[in-house]
Amino acid sequence: MTAKIIDGKKTAEILRTELAQKIALETIKPYLAVVLVGDDPASLIYDRNKQKAAQAMGMECVIHHLPQETTEDELLNLVTELNIDKKVNGIIVQMPLPKHIDSSAVIKAIAHEKDVDGFGPYNAGLLHENDSQAMIAATPKGILYLLKQALGDLSGKHAVIIGRSNIVGRPLASLLLNNNCTVTVTHTKTVDLPSICRQADILVSACGQAKMVKKDWVKDGATVIDVGMNRDGGKLCGDVDFDEVKEKAAYITPVPGGVGPMTIAMLLDNTYQAFLRQHNVK
Ligand code: NDP
Repeated sequence: MTAKIIDGKKTAEILRTELAQKIALETIKPYLAVVLVGDDPASLIYDRNKQKAAQAMGMECVIHHLPQETTEDELLNLVTELNIDKKVNGIIVQMPLPKHIDSSAVIKAIAHEKDVDGFGPYNAGLLHENDSQAMIAATPKGILYLLKQALGDLSGKHAVIIGRSNIVGRPLASLLLNNNCTVTVTHTKTVDLPSICRQADILVSACGQAKMVKKDWVKDGATVIDVGMNRDGGKLCGDVDFDEVKEKAAYITPVPGGVGPMTIAMLLDNTYQAFLRQHNVK
């Protein structure tokens, strides 16, 4: 069997076009504030990409670029200003923050209605409770979209997730549980990971280990979602050994061109949803 490729790039383009059409009808435009502390080159590229994507679909997007030596209080003050600024609909604070700043305190300080990353405890709690008002973290939300597009109803499927981070593994576990999957979450202390992965109808890897998931970890006909973004000899690759695993799976996401483009599309969708709610449309 050769797997069907789940084309996240194409799906994300369609979603972005649809969103741009909706935004074109609005007189006031959705406004996203991105806060970046320091000069980490990867973060700078991520944020510029977010800004370009947001502007391309007619949103306002301002990057607040603060110096590396910014104190936690200074950052919290900016977050408070953005929280009360009525024109700002969504706030993202780019991670990782410099070590002298408590990331958790900053995430908690973002007003929950503007927390378009969905990383704050209020939105994480709503997701945990399967409340439809939850602002869902963009990567898991994008993964769910791709899975439903490929498989339809996910009820009863066994989903195995590699990784338990607050930005991917944990929210995805809640989301798949809310969609009636049976969910197993694995991590570095999991015993015999390959045998657990072999039980998966849906296998999602979000662990950041280049090409770790091999063909003999995958059940015939499984759907494999690769979240990893790693470098292998300078070349971007996922957590899954794509060339091997595509011979065993029924569906597979490539890296690049799978989950990554969906993350930005979903982040902008969250910003638009926040805008609608703040203008009492939904
Ligand atoms: P974290 O480092 O925060 O978490 C990694 C998780 O994977 C941890 O729970 C860790 O376990 C687990 N893990 C690591 N190594 C192994 C292993 N050998 N076996 C089993 N579990 C393991 O990473 P993130 O969640 O932030 O990101 C994961 C990957 O996804 C990265 O490559 C990142 O670049 C990518 N990513 C891609 C996005 C996209 O849009 N495409 C968005 C976000 C992330 P433990 O908890 O025990 O340490």
